Amino acid sequence: MILTEVGCGCGAVYRCAESETLEGEPGQLKCGNCGAIVVRWLTAHKRVYRCVIAPDRGYPVVVPPPSP
Ligand SMILES: [Zn+2]
Repeated sequence: MILTEVGCGCGAVYRCAESETLEGEPGQLKCGNCGAIVVRWLTAHKRVYRCVIAPDRGYPVVVPPPSP
């Protein structure tokens, strides 16, 4: 399994898990945020993409708990 990360121009980051053994199909990753084509691949390996950073959650606001 090969793990890589790829970022879209809009700030979203996707983690790719590519199998070296499972067969898949060439395809493309479309950004779920802005709809742009982030990655195209031609290898016939199984790939799974998962969004790890959405642009609106890239910098989470941490609210401190109220003091007692
Ligand atoms: Zn995008």
